[in-house]
Formats: sequence, C-alpha cells, structure tokens
Amino acid sequence: MSRGVARVDVALPLPIHRTFTYRVDGPIPPIGTRVLVPFRRDERIGWVVGPGSRGEIKGLKSVLSVLDETPTVPADLVELCRWIADYYIAPMGIALRAALPAVLSDVSRDYVTLRDLGSRSLRPREQRVADWLSARPGPQRVRTMRRDLGMGSVWPEVRSLLARGVLSHETLPPTTPSVKTRRVVRITRHLGTLAERDEIFGRAGRQKEAYASLEASGGSSDLSHLMGNEGFSRTVIAGLEEKELVQLVDEEEYRDPFVHTAVPEAPKLTLTQHQRVALAALVDGLDERVPAPYLLQGITGSGKTLVYIELLREALARGRTAIVLVPEIALTPQTVSRFRAHFADDVAVLHSGLSDGERYDAWRQLRNGERRIAIGARSALFAPLENIGAVIVDEEHEGTYKQSDAPRYHARDLAVMRARAHGAVCVLGSATPSLESWQNARSGKFRHLFLPERVGGGRLPEVRVIDLREERKKEGGGSPRAGRGAGVLSRELVDAIDVRLRKREQVILLLNRRGYSSFVQCRECGEVEQCENCSISLTFHRVTQRIVCHHCRFEAPAPSRCPRCGSADLSFRGVGTEQVERVANEAFPEARIARMDVDTTSGKWAHQRILARVESGEVDILLGTQMIAKGLDFPRVTLVGVVNADVGMNLPDFRGSERTYQLLSQVAGRAGRSVLGGEVLIQTSLPDHYAVRAAVAHDFEMFATRELEERLRPSYPPHVRLVNVVVSSPDQGLAARAAEGGANWLRRWLSACARPRRSGPGGGVGVELVGPAPAPIERLHNRWRWHFLLRGPSPRALGRAARALAEDYNLPSGDVRMVLDRDPVALL
Ligand code: ADP
Ligand code: ZN
Ligand code: ZN
Repeated sequence: MSRGVARVDVALPLPIHRTFTYRVDGPIPPIGTRVLVPFRRDERIGWVVGPGSRGEIKGLKSVLSVLDETPTVPADLVELCRWIADYYIAPMGIALRAALPAVLSDVSRDYVTLRDLGSRSLRPREQRVADWLSARPGPQRVRTMRRDLGMGSVWPEVRSLLARGVLSHETLPPTTPSVKTRRVVRITRHLGTLAERDEIFGRAGRQKEAYASLEASGGSSDLSHLMGNEGFSRTVIAGLEEKELVQLVDEEEYRDPFVHTAVPEAPKLTLTQHQRVALAALVDGLDERVPAPYLLQGITGSGKTLVYIELLREALARGRTAIVLVPEIALTPQTVSRFRAHFADDVAVLHSGLSDGERYDAWRQLRNGERRIAIGARSALFAPLENIGAVIVDEEHEGTYKQSDAPRYHARDLAVMRARAHGAVCVLGSATPSLESWQNARSGKFRHLFLPERVGGGRLPEVRVIDLREERKKEGGGSPRAGRGAGVLSRELVDAIDVRLRKREQVILLLNRRGYSSFVQCRECGEVEQCENCSISLTFHRVTQRIVCHHCRFEAPAPSRCPRCGSADLSFRGVGTEQVERVANEAFPEARIARMDVDTTSGKWAHQRILARVESGEVDILLGTQMIAKGLDFPRVTLVGVVNADVGMNLPDFRGSERTYQLLSQVAGRAGRSVLGGEVLIQTSLPDHYAVRAAVAHDFEMFATRELEERLRPSYPPHVRLVNVVVSSPDQGLAARAAEGGANWLRRWLSACARPRRSGPGGGVGVELVGPAPAPIERLHNRWRWHFLLRGPSPRALGRAARALAEDYNLPSGDVRMVLDRDPVALL
C-alpha cells in the first residue's frame, strides 16, 4: 500500500460494468457520499461505494468535489444496490441512480460554445452540430442540443470538433437540489405578565395583537399568513423584530401533492377471526430476529388491507418504520387513502406524478425520520428508512413490479432482500399469488397465511361462461351486427346489464384491449396495416380517426384505401374498448358510461376523477382495460362482464395463461362486495381452458396445480430460473449475427465449464441454452430483435454464465445492443 494516499471506489451512473478508483486529497468521504469526479472528458456525479482498490497510484485522478456533508445513500441501500448490480448484471451506478430521486444524480451540466468554424469540411453529423450552434450565440447546453437535434448521442461529434478547436467546452458543477422555503415568524422571547406587555408595547397596539396572534397559533406562523390573512403590515412585524420578541427564519417547505386531497375518516373495524389469526402470525414475526417472508393468500374482499394496517400499527408501536408497495398508485387511490386515514402525516406517498422536487421532498422526510411509512410503486422499495419493521407487497403477482429498464429488478424479490437485511416482516399479499411465491410457500421457504372468506359473510360472485362460438352460430355466422349488443355483447350479457341498471346498481365491463379495433385489414388482398417501426399491427382509434402503434406511438391518419392494392374494402377487426363504449352507448342510451384506459387517463389525476365518479354513483357502467380489474372496492357493483377473455391468452409467452387467470379472478372479485351480491359473465371462445375454468370455480389451487404441470415440459419458472438475452439492431442481419455469435460464445463457455474438474468455482454447471431465434415481437422501435434463453435450476450458476456473457463476449461492431433480463416476466 502506498502510504499517505487516500483513495475511494466510485460507482458512476454509466453503462459500464465496473467501478472506478479516485484519489482523495482531503478526509475520506464515507460510503454513500456523492462526489464529483473527472471521467473521460466530462465531470460526473458518482457515489463512494468502497475503499479504493490498491494498485498503481500514478495517473490516478482526484475527486473534484465532495457533494454531501453526510452520505445521501444509507449504507443498507448501498449494499442492496451492490446486490442488484451483481444479481441483475447491471452497473452499480445505474442501480444507485434508480434508487435515488433524480435530483441527486443529475449529471453535471455541460456547455459548448462555437469558437471558430473556419473553412473546415465537416462530416454530416458534425455539420448539424455546428449549424445548430452557429444559430445560437454563447454557451449552449449539450443536453438541449442533443434533444433538439434528436441525435441520440452528440458526444462523438462534440469531441471531434473540440479536438479541432471548433468548439470550446465547460462543465458547470451541479447545483444542490433546490429546497423550497417559506418565511416564518417565530416568538423568541415569551412575555409573562400583563404589566410586562403593557410596558413593552405601550401604544403599539397592532404589535401587541400580532404577538398575541402568534402565541395563539403555537408560537410561530407563516409571514404570508400574518400579512395576508391577518392583515398585519410588514412594519408591525419589523417592530416586533426590533424589540427582539420574534425572529424571521426560513423554514424548509415540503411540496405535498396530497395536501389538498381529503383524508377520509378511519373507520373502527373489528378484525374477523381469520384476520386475527393472520395478524397474530405476522406480529410474531416482528419480534423475531430474521423472520421468514409471509405469503398472505386472501381471496378478493377478504380484508387484506386491514391486516396490513394493523401490522403497520404494531411496527410503529415498536419504534420501527415500514414500506408498502402497490402495483400502481394511480390505480389504487382507495387503498392509499385507507392508509392515510390511519396514519395521516406518518405516510409519504411516492406517486409517479410527483415532480422531481416533490419526490425529493418526500425522500428527505423519510430520510430524516419525519415520516415513517413509505407507500408507492416499485421504487418506493428504496425509501431511505432506518430500522424497518415491515415491508408489504400488495398484489404481489403483478408484473408491474418488474422494472423494464436497467437495472431490471423485481421489486417483490428485492422486498424480501431488504426486509431480511432489517430483520423486518415481509408480507406478500394476493388473491392470485404468482406461482413463484406459491411454490415458495408450499416448500416452506415462505410462511403461508390464508384469508379464505369474504368479510361480513359476503360470498364470491357466481361466474358464468358465455361461449362466443355458440353466439356466432346463433347469429348465423353472417351478420355480426345483429342484436343490441352488435355482436360485441351477447344477448345474455345485455339482458343482465338491463336488470342491474333497472335496480340502479353498477356494472363493470372489462376488455383488455385499447382503441376501437386492433387491426385494419384489406378484404381484397389481406394486407394488414403495420407500424413503420415495429412488427405490430396498428390499432384504429375512432375518436381521433388515426391508426396508432401501442408500442412506439407511431401514428398515421386512418386509411380509406388499402395502401397495397387500393381497394376501399377495409375491415376494422379485433374489438377494443372504444368500440365497446360505442356499442354500450347504443344498447343502453339511458346509462351513464365511463371508460378507463390509457387513452382516457393521461392527466395527472384522471384516474382519481373517474373512480370518484363511480364511487359517488354518477356512473352506471364502468368499462376499461385491466386498469379497472384491481383493488377497487365499490359496493354497488353487482355485475362484471368480461367482453372477451381470450385477449392475451394466445400470446407466445409462458405466462399467458397465468395472466389470464389473474385478470379474470381479479375482475370477478370486483363484483358482489356487499350484501347486494353479484354475478360475473365471461365471454370466451375457450370455455374449456383451465384458466377460465379455474376462474369460474374461484379455485386458485386448481389453476396453480395445472399450470405447474404445464411448465414442466419445456421447463419454465418456477421450476427453473431464466435469463432472457435480447439482441437488437436496426440491421436485421446484424441482429441475427450478433445473437448467434453470443449464443455460440456462451455454448463454448459452458462446455469449457463442463469439462471435469476444470470448472472450479467459476462454472455455469447445469445451465442450458435455448435458441437463438427471432423474438416474438421481431421488430420494435425500428430495431430487429433476436433472443436466446439461459435456463437452469441454480441461480448462482446462471448468474455466472450471464455475467461472463455480459462482460466477455464482444458484440460485433455497429449499432447492436444486448440486453440481459434476469427472471423476466415476459418473453415478448
Ligand atoms: P381485499 O384487499 O382482500 O380484496 P379489502 O381489504 O379491500 O379486501 O376489504 C374489503 C372490504 O371489507 C373493504 O371495504 C374493507 O373496508 C372491509 N373490511 C375489511 N376488514 C373488515 C372488518 N374486519 N370488518 C368490517 N369490514 C371490513
Ligand atoms: Zn389490399
Ligand atoms: Zn411501433
């Protein structure tokens, strides 16, 4: 070790699978501290993640600036991110960035200035950069230029122009995240007797009143409040200041978007017998050192939320904190407001609609202990809480818990990890658990708790199946427009809706497909309108009269003629929610209908507004995509109709049946949640499919048992673990070559491991390679996609193989990318 030279390892939020060592000239910043470091030609924000590796000291660059007085990232989160980086094969800096509010990893800001164009000949991309800059005098932000030019990265061009003296470059150090403050007037000297007051204030009656008003409001008040609402002048307050009775201070203000939403009254409920038993088991866990995770399997309407709430109460009473994960905040306003009703200001709600500033505020409140419960979607897992007592994952089976960009973590699995690190109770709750969790519960890795009955003696609704094949026969195969339901809603479903409307009850209609029709086909030549960038058919939206790609958002005016043969005989096929809305409007002209899907919920509070109207009885029929299937608790909903259960069943993905079963069970669970009872009608062409039959019978075990068998040959999770490797390029041939190259490289690596006694600890024994083949969605966002799977029973061996591939396989040159998705939720 070279004496006297301090160094640290720094993780940078860059797609590079390693950390970097820098020397530190002052005191060594502790782990989790943000630092500004030189990197290539830039300056970057990184995090100290360890003592620097030993080695050559010469040429080691120095940390430019230490940005935090105390580490921004608590030590346990640094460790969690280290684990994420390792397990999901992601750079640690990327994991840290995902764990923190954006303002804390805002990269340093780079500016360039055009100096001298001269008469140099520039390459086309360089020319675009130079043209853009010559239209704008003075330093220009690189990020703005990149966005304006839509060029992906402009750094190659900037560097080459810098090298030739065309540009100059400077990096402004990042600003500290802004903290909003308010001016507060606070009493600093308390006056006792009346005589004392009279003496001090004399004739200054307004000062005396202002002082009294401050006393009445607890000793301090906002300056704006005193001056605005109470009408004291600035002079009056200055007078108090002069007498050294009060002080004006800036206090941090938290921007809370929920400030204006009403907190409902917390109802006093007595736990049912089943709830009591489950709660007792969980509370036992609170007093264990490292409790095993719990799977709380409770049917829809069995009162899982109340069990969570009571568990939180117990955790707080023990001086501990808690995290509650929900699949999507916007879709679960009822659940969130129930927590707020019980814990009010102890709750920080981490909403995807928060601005960066609001998010940072919530984060600080959790970090400094002002709020002890974090509720949010998957990233709430990283709430900077200490001494966590409970981590709750509601609807643990939801695919939204998996992050789709790097680091591609699964929040449910990380919840288990984080709880373990804190000795906290981890509760995974669902009516339809993932097969992974169910398997873990059956094998004894998790503890299995049940809520087998609906609260208050309510029964699960009766479910009936309507065979769409029979329906088509009835219509004589010919005119699907026949009848009030226009071939979209069967006679039976229309009749059932009539009955409910007459009784002033509410109806939910589910169809998991947006738009009006999911594809446009020419009757003459069979041509289907496809996206320009994806191998996806374009969905017709009637409201906008456009055809839209639901993956890349490409859109065009709806065609009136076939682009291939010119025929005007186009058919709009594949019913979507827009069409259901139209049919329902025609069939039930008196009914008030609300549609909830991506297209009707773009505003920040749009979900809440729609659901509030349903709650207050202003809506008779709520129709929509899977958005309306989850967590909603409306006692007047007595009928749920599934317009077509087959959507999604035939996707080339091993979780297709599981997702169908979950969706059907969850949406069925919205019906009959009160004494009014309820029924469910499912329209399908696959009435005999086990996912449909299990949903009809409300029989999770039946579904899970059968599905486990289905996943034996070929074997899929939970029997094995998977890594999906997706290779993509705008060049079709290059994507194929790179995928084949990667697969071959890995095959050689695996067979080298298999050689006896040579594998040592670094082997990938038991790992099997499947593919490569074109991905089910062959082209997406203008990139051709190939994939292959790594499959095996040992997470460790799988991890080693995947890491070897990520680090040592050299992709062919050109625009080609390789993405490793560990424990994927979909293989599309
Ligand atoms: P789940 O999440 O299991 O579907 P919820 O937690 O939404 O069920 O509970 C369903 C309904 O039952 C809610 O309206 C809730 O307020 C009510 N509820 C839950 N527990 C009780 C109880 N012990 N007594 C009375 N009502 C309850
Ligand atoms: Zn045609
Ligand atoms: Zn597209």
